[in-house]
Amino acid sequence: MKNSLILLAGGMGKRLGNKVPKQFVKFGNTSLIEYFLVHLDKSIFDNIIITVSDKNRKKYLNSLKKQFPQHQIFFALAGGSRQQSSNNALKKLKKNRPKNVLIHDSARPIVSNKLILKIIKSLEKNTAAIPFIAHYDLIKIKSQQNIRLKSNQIMHIQTPQGFRYKDILAVHDQTSLFNTKDDSILIEETGKKIKFIKGEMSNVKITTKADIEYFNKVKIKEYRCGIGYDIHKINFQSNKKLKLCGVKVNHPPLIGHSDADVGYHAVCDSILGALSMKDIGYFFSNKNPKWKNANSKKFIEFCAQHLREKYFRIINLDINFICESPNISKISSKMKKNLSLLLDISLNQISIKATTNEKISFIGKGEGIAAESIVQITND
Ligand code: ZN
Repeated sequence: MKNSLILLAGGMGKRLGNKVPKQFVKFGNTSLIEYFLVHLDKSIFDNIIITVSDKNRKKYLNSLKKQFPQHQIFFALAGGSRQQSSNNALKKLKKNRPKNVLIHDSARPIVSNKLILKIIKSLEKNTAAIPFIAHYDLIKIKSQQNIRLKSNQIMHIQTPQGFRYKDILAVHDQTSLFNTKDDSILIEETGKKIKFIKGEMSNVKITTKADIEYFNKVKIKEYRCGIGYDIHKINFQSNKKLKLCGVKVNHPPLIGHSDADVGYHAVCDSILGALSMKDIGYFFSNKNPKWKNANSKKFIEFCAQHLREKYFRIINLDINFICESPNISKISSKMKKNLSLLLDISLNQISIKATTNEKISFIGKGEGIAAESIVQITND
């Protein structure tokens, strides 16, 4: 085995005032730890050991393991101190004995794969490779008026910190220290040399609310697509009117548990798909009497709410109706207006088109109406 990663996620993040540990708090649709795992190149590490408390293991880690089947994720118990946590994780790796181990703070989710690879490369010649940021501001010591430190005396130490596994395990086993701030200190104590390499300004430790704002600003933006399709049969016996994207039309209506608005249903499914959520039938089951004859506008409002909560917005929405009648072009501007108001987007972000089924199959015979929708969303 070549490379293992220890991800320290035992801290509670009291400074952010959350009950949930900060690395598991959702910011939009992602937590710090999820963001890190999404962007981590899966080919770098043979396995990842995440240190969490037993309680958090059940609550967060097991679902994280399910969500990221591409990574080999294991668990080690977080200790009372950072040093104890990494010690527990290092022991867990004894049966694997990797060549290198990188110890990373899960509160630094923005680290690049480039920096990780640079650290691993540096371990070919060094026992330990530690990223740092140089300091350029003048530093004064609060209580001592005349003491000023020169900028070249200051280094901001970052993680991941890279070590040859056998060396870091040995110093952990032998040390008399028990609460060091990081693992590089243990190596320094033995007198072994550390290779300091240039870290990344963006690789900040998310500690305060201002850091969260920074994270939201610099995180890699997501662009997602979703597809939706729906079809309903026409009820020629009914005197009611047809409803398409909230527009009533003089045409026999569609059969359905709700108001059978095939247009809204397809749009909903495309948005839910783009958000990686379950389909419309899951949230608004046709077995649930609550949705009997329901106005499908409510389903669109539900989707708009989820977009907002996850900090996403629609870039564009493209809807296609497949039917012999009614004439969609006559009502498309009213449909667009309804969608624009419900989804808080402009008219030019919406396209509504239609095609017939060339008299083929039951749609072609005029017995039903289908709609398909594609949406693109972003958290930019
Ligand atoms: Zn439907």
